[in-house]
Amino acid sequence: MAYKFIDNYREKGARKKLVELLRERGITDENVLKAIGKVPRHFFFDETFWNQAYRDIAFPIGDGQTISQPYTVAYQTELLHITKDDKVLEIGTGSGYQTCILMELGANVYTIERQANIYNRTLKVLPGMGYMANFFLGDGSKGIAEHAPYDKIIVTAGAPFVPEILLKQLKIGGILVIPVGDEKTQKMITVIRVSENDYDKIELDTFRFVPLVGDQAW
Ligand code: SAM
Repeated sequence: MAYKFIDNYREKGARKKLVELLRERGITDENVLKAIGKVPRHFFFDETFWNQAYRDIAFPIGDGQTISQPYTVAYQTELLHITKDDKVLEIGTGSGYQTCILMELGANVYTIERQANIYNRTLKVLPGMGYMANFFLGDGSKGIAEHAPYDKIIVTAGAPFVPEILLKQLKIGGILVIPVGDEKTQKMITVIRVSENDYDKIELDTFRFVPLVGDQAW
């Protein structure tokens, strides 16, 4: 696929409308909305499908995977309460769209993808757009222990349970956001590490993600 980084008035206008739609749907964090308004989501699509890029839908990116729905990206990002220079572990790089949103908010992102095709594609696209994340290929369900601890951890695929090993890679005061459920639907869960051995867990809305596949997963 040839990547064309052209952001013209049509795409900019569509992006503004998407931001307003997300606001109407309940996203309130202005910094998150600003990031959505900044990252050109059509850069993650083949030019043939640019007219789909600013609809609030997930879209196939090949290899049976999807670029997440903008609402889902905004929802998970809002829950992370990113502050500048937060060290963030993202599990499930996919297209890299979520990675860019985190970086727009000032995060230092460590992102891991298990599928080599997707990893190789995103590894090329993001630096071309000016986003220099730390990319890893492998099973993110075990986290990345060598770079722990993290201020925040986000899982962008549906897990059968909250992996204990991820909780241990959070800093005290850190936040994990992870969809947990069966193969069809998952509840969004946030876990805050309040002390060495104590965690506060909150269960939120229902979503539908592709499965998290790995050692601490399906
Ligand atoms: N947020 C991404 C975006 O905006 O494009 C979409 C992520 S997609 C819904 C989920 C990704 O998680 C897929 O690319 C899938 O291959 C990956 N994945 C699934 N299990 C994984 C694991 N154990 N470790 C790393 N990546 C995994």
